Amino acid sequence: MPRDELIPSEQRIYGWIEQVFAQGVRRPGYPADRWTEQFCFERFREFGLEKVRLEPVELPYWEPARWSLTVWGDGPGAVEMLELPCFPLPHSAPTRGLEAQLIPFDEQSPEGVKDNIALYDVTLIRSRHATLAGLATWCYDPDASFADSTQVLPFGREIQAVMEPAMAAGAVGFVGALVGYPSNSYDYYVPYDAVARPVPGVWISGEDGARLRRTLERGPAQVRLTVESAREAITTHNVVGELPGADEETVIIGSHHDGPWSSAVEDGSGIALVLAQAEYWSSLSPEERPHRLVFLLNSGHMAGGAGAQAFIETHRAECERTVLEVHLEHAASECREEDGELKATGLPEARWWFTSRIPSLEAAVRAAIETENLRRSLVLPPTAFGPRPTTDGGDFHLAGVPIVNFLTAPFYLFDSQDTLDKIHRPSLVPVTRAAVRIIESTAGRSAAEMRSAAVA
Ligand SMILES: [Zn+2]
Repeated sequence: MPRDELIPSEQRIYGWIEQVFAQGVRRPGYPADRWTEQFCFERFREFGLEKVRLEPVELPYWEPARWSLTVWGDGPGAVEMLELPCFPLPHSAPTRGLEAQLIPFDEQSPEGVKDNIALYDVTLIRSRHATLAGLATWCYDPDASFADSTQVLPFGREIQAVMEPAMAAGAVGFVGALVGYPSNSYDYYVPYDAVARPVPGVWISGEDGARLRRTLERGPAQVRLTVESAREAITTHNVVGELPGADEETVIIGSHHDGPWSSAVEDGSGIALVLAQAEYWSSLSPEERPHRLVFLLNSGHMAGGAGAQAFIETHRAECERTVLEVHLEHAASECREEDGELKATGLPEARWWFTSRIPSLEAAVRAAIETENLRRSLVLPPTAFGPRPTTDGGDFHLAGVPIVNFLTAPFYLFDSQDTLDKIHRPSLVPVTRAAVRIIESTAGRSAAEMRSAAVA
């Protein structure tokens, strides 16, 4: 049972999100991300955690400085010149000014883009909530809000491999059109695997993509693409702090401190949810903590999950002794487009709880969700969407650590529109309380016992 008086208030948790958001764009190694490392470090100290430390994480830094996209028809009499707003694909190649013909990518005959700049449509996946619920081991939707609604996911079917089809066909440049993207944005920080791709690329809005297609129907068009960006190896830090508990096996409670933009939800909210856990558990005595608790705010989620991977690599023995890894990401409001603007529906975005297939753990997660009335929740097997959960903590699953990874996936997750108004404030305290209950449920269970109870 959570001790009510010790749970941080909604205002306090939201206040941490506001402070982090106010620092600006928090990409790995940016000044706002450095500030956030220090902020988390200082909060851990202030709560009285022990062994508070910054653990180094090497990763590629990427910073775009200037970019532009100019298109003009080169048919007879075609002089119209368009300057289109755009945003470079992270870690794609810089160019001082690449000029080539623009060719729409055609899956049936992809070779048409060879030595040209490909116009490639990306359509975010739209999935019926009921279909997603079909992948769950359990679903809590007492208002039947999933009955015939649809979720727009933050990825197209290419996931991060958006440039690969055009590159494989020999394109020398990439113009990605975000077709049907709510609110017609082009601030899309994907891919975020931090892989240097050898051709330059930019995102444009779906409307501009349609406009270019109409231009191309009238005749050929030329493109000039300019991207100035810096890419270099840097050292960032995972922020770690610990609290001793009833035994020396551990529960890890994590999220990531970087984000694609100022990113309130991704993951200002995750930082705040981990700080809430650290503050709560620090006010109890060691005997009241089921195990040693390790609080972890990773760097480099937006650089291919570099922080989580570095932690696992450097703490193999500790991972063996880990009873449970809890990751907390994204207290998000569901939004829809109305008259070109994003409006909150008032509902929380569907909540995914990737949970290792350990019956007692799944039961604890279900009970916590129900008790805290976290409607629109799905308990998902870690492998629901692939070999690992689509979370910053997903690699713990691959490392054999029992997990509960909480995540929501609103379509605006990688967009600059992830602002403070996207936070689903009424979720902050109940998610905190549910996480406390799930951690409490591990009392008296060993890491070995948890692993041996897993069902295939
Ligand atoms: Zn996140």
